[in-house]
Amino acid sequence: MIVVIKSSHEKKQLDNLMNWIKGLGLKIHLSEGENTTILGLIGDTGLVDIDLLRSMNIVETVKRIQEPFKKANRKFHPEDTVIEAAGRKIGGGNFTFIAGPCSVESEKQIVAVAAAVKRAGAGFLRGGAYKPRTSPYAFQGLRESGLELLLRAKAETGLPIVSEIMSVRHIDLFRDVDVVQVGARNMQNFELLKEVGRIDKPILLKRGLANTIEEWLMSAEYIMAEGNGRVVLCERGIRTFEPYTRNTLDLSAIPILKELTHLPVIVDPSHASGLSRLVLPLSLASAGVGSDGLIIEVHNDPEHALCDGAQSIRPEAFAELVGKVGVILPLVGKEGIGK
Ligand code: PEP
Ligand code: MN
Repeated sequence: MIVVIKSSHEKKQLDNLMNWIKGLGLKIHLSEGENTTILGLIGDTGLVDIDLLRSMNIVETVKRIQEPFKKANRKFHPEDTVIEAAGRKIGGGNFTFIAGPCSVESEKQIVAVAAAVKRAGAGFLRGGAYKPRTSPYAFQGLRESGLELLLRAKAETGLPIVSEIMSVRHIDLFRDVDVVQVGARNMQNFELLKEVGRIDKPILLKRGLANTIEEWLMSAEYIMAEGNGRVVLCERGIRTFEPYTRNTLDLSAIPILKELTHLPVIVDPSHASGLSRLVLPLSLASAGVGSDGLIIEVHNDPEHALCDGAQSIRPEAFAELVGKVGVILPLVGKEGIGK
């Protein structure tokens, strides 16, 4: 952290400030030029209240040099993290397809979709049991029995399962879920993040509806700070002024995240666009910019889906998509489909 001192300062003020900084356990590199005095702060600058520092009378500007996220930071962990989930690898040279309906609706539905997406090349089955719906009158998911049906589909097909948790009270119910999803609406539910940070399972952390990349990485940091380093980030579109699509897929976030963090990053083109016909082109684009995988809503009867039918593709379209994405993967250094 660099602190530029106003040229008009008095020596006493500078001494006071330096003593305050040293009191936080930091060392100072003082540079006094003819017109400018600069303090270089050395040590754990996470302890400094940057807004407080900026508000001080003799301070001109403060510049942070290091990012506030540490465990997720690639600077301290240059290699890609490869996450083991139910014996499958996510990240590094692997490309992972997660597919399934927005919500679990019945045993017949979830088993049929599971079998179809497995045949097409999916490595994981997704399915919402607890659904975050805008309206309290909309279908809320089958809840606990939805999780049971997912486990039945897993037993039938062997596909590990991914499902969204919405409350700290449900942690025990997720004991047999292979990958626990924290959805966009809960990206900054810090108590939930801490709780999933204490379980021994990979966490799929979706980007919040209107959150910056740094806020998102700080949420990953919450999980990692509790001891769970198995975090997969998922870009799922952000709110913009554009109404033609449900959200705007922030494709630039993927290469930016690849610079900032060692964690795997996947893309959800279904929630990003809200339109089934955009799922294929956005999937190709996501693979092209270096995503480590895709999570896609697949339904065997989208017209009658209880949730998100408009953005759900049929199993046949998913199979075609897996084939087309596969053509791009060698170009972006992905050797295999993680299944
Ligand atoms: C979902 O995956 O079904 C979901 C609700 O996603 P998001 O949190 O990205 O809206
Ligand atoms: Mn959905």
